[in-house]
Amino acid sequence: MLRIYDAENIIDAQLALDELKAGGLDCCMKGQHLMGGVGEIPPSGVITLWISAPQHEQRARDIIREYEDGKRSEQPSRPCPKCGEIIEGNFGRCWNCNAFLD
Ligand SMILES: [Zn+2]
Repeated sequence: MLRIYDAENIIDAQLALDELKAGGLDCCMKGQHLMGGVGEIPPSGVITLWISAPQHEQRARDIIREYEDGKRSEQPSRPCPKCGEIIEGNFGRCWNCNAFLD
């Protein structure tokens, strides 16, 4: 087993794991059971992703790099110009008042 990724949180870990699996890699998550109570944010590095075949390391790292690039290119949340609701960056319209965002 080879450690390939330190996740920020369980959601980050699951998304990255899905990408690795989509890339055909045999991988697994460790540390998700070490989390504390509900709502508690574990420190970075607690949840890790591992691949079973070290010869696939380069491919796995490429997938992780693309995944991280994708995270960075996400648009930040912004307020609706009409009603002020906070809209997540991926949405082009306000879910509250239907105004278009630019
Ligand atoms: Zn709005």
